[in-house]
Amino acid sequence: MIAVSACLLGFNCRYDGKCKKNSALIKLLKSEKILPICPEELGGLSTPRAPSNLVEGNGFDVLDGNAKVINSYGDDNTEAFIKGAYAVLDRIRKQKIKLCFLKDKSPSCGVGEKYLTGVTAALLIREGYIVEEFS
Ligand code: SF4
Repeated sequence: MIAVSACLLGFNCRYDGKCKKNSALIKLLKSEKILPICPEELGGLSTPRAPSNLVEGNGFDVLDGNAKVINSYGDDNTEAFIKGAYAVLDRIRKQKIKLCFLKDKSPSCGVGEKYLTGVTAALLIREGYIVEEFS
């Protein structure tokens, strides 16, 4: 089983209430078992929601208490992002998943090749999971 950012699979869970469906990825995963995950919704944030950004560091820094996640209204969403990251970790542990395909350029799911590493990606990397980034 592979954990995949739900927005890549066509779930309308992004901050703007839309998805980032990746049809090629969905085709690639046709014969795989998939666990859709959206850490921001699992952290208790509603959809749609104001977009958030990492401030003063990356997801690793957020986990260590040295950076924050702030939305466009200036609200501090750090706690929700960390809660969502651990909710994802709990789910993938229960399913014995080793591989995660995550959405790029996200303060939660981004793996850091195109943007800062997000909070959930950082936790999964730190816990030894294989994470790959998709657009
Ligand atoms: S990038 Fe991650 S947190 Fe953002 S909508 Fe997609 S699955 Fe949810």
